[in-house]
Amino acid sequence: MTLPKKHLFDLPEGVIYLDGNSLGPLPKGAVDSASRVIADEWGTELIRAWNTADWMTLPSRLGDLIAPLIGAPKGSVATGDTLSIKVYQALASALKRVPDRRVILSDSGNFPSDLYMAQGLIRTLDQAYELRTPAPEDVLEAITDEVAVVMITQVDYRSGGMHDMTAITEKAQSVGAVMIWDLAHSAGAVPVDMLGCNAEFAVGCTYKYLNGGPGAPAFIYARPDIIADVEPALAGWLGHDAPFAMDPEYRPAMSIERLRVGTPPILQLAVLEQALTAWEGVSMAELRAASIHLSETFIREVEARCPDLVLASPRHPAQRGSQVSFAFEHGYPAMQALIDHGVIGDFRAPDIMRFGFTPLYLDDADVLRACEIMEMIFQEALWRDPKYQVRSRVT
Ligand SMILES: *Cc1c(COP(=O)(O)O)cnc(C)c1O
Repeated sequence: MTLPKKHLFDLPEGVIYLDGNSLGPLPKGAVDSASRVIADEWGTELIRAWNTADWMTLPSRLGDLIAPLIGAPKGSVATGDTLSIKVYQALASALKRVPDRRVILSDSGNFPSDLYMAQGLIRTLDQAYELRTPAPEDVLEAITDEVAVVMITQVDYRSGGMHDMTAITEKAQSVGAVMIWDLAHSAGAVPVDMLGCNAEFAVGCTYKYLNGGPGAPAFIYARPDIIADVEPALAGWLGHDAPFAMDPEYRPAMSIERLRVGTPPILQLAVLEQALTAWEGVSMAELRAASIHLSETFIREVEARCPDLVLASPRHPAQRGSQVSFAFEHGYPAMQALIDHGVIGDFRAPDIMRFGFTPLYLDDADVLRACEIMEMIFQEALWRDPKYQVRSRVT
């Protein structure tokens, strides 16, 4: 099962790309888009391009293209900055809404940067805030009436385990806490219904399943009914109601633009705009069915062919996002050997080999071929080669 979108991506010959969960591949029109913006807009129009090429509205226009992918209405998603910054922004704004409580609840499976941002914010506030990180399976129980904000990444970056957004949001709101979802591994991977789940905030990134390119800007969602009273902790001039009034006092925009901060990265946004065209006409339900089919095939084949690998993701597909992880003691060199043989996944310490399934540009034949190559690497223990033992900076 493939969605007829593979032709939209420029994948190198001989590579099976199972890492689109970490950095999406190059969309075919991206090079042209970027060169057009550089040569025709920046080069020719110079500063006039902020108006003539509509640069200033690009972040909001792209927010409106991301919105349907996460079940959000137009005007509820802003783009810009990096995900870490958006986590900080959402968390600081959420804490303001519950001034009498001091507990931030996340989970031990959350991505380190999300936890670090919370720790940094707590140190800045210096008001006895506390970050609690129970095991992912204990989150529901840990949501008590001491909790101010529940901040959870829906799909665990290591195991691929997926939280139930509706159940956790309901529990959080039933005790009076504010809910923030990190959709880093959800947007473009699984169906998300922000309005339906009713959470106040969501954040996510665009260089993973949305294929916006390395360093592509992040996004932040605020539920439409609260936008006008969200307090932006990062009060930049482009979140001001009238940036060019050059008012010395900050007064936030009445729209989602209040969650913008500074000058948008136009080149990167131009690439993202091109990448988002691949989603036209894609049904997230169909994409999810295709992703489950590919990942079930992969698990079945890997377990049959590579008995040394132990499934580290939930076995039931409904409990997984769009990635599959296997634990293996020598996972790092094994992944280097795989990459050397054209199957690109990645490694997460201490022993996780991670594979992403992205039906926009992956099909059955790719997955079966990847499994044959894996079988060969493990049967011949090719990963023992000393050249695969040397750790690079990025794993
Ligand atoms: C990928 C990822 C990040 C990365 O944040 P950046 O600021 O874009 O580097 C943060 N949080 C989660 C949950 C992620 O998956």
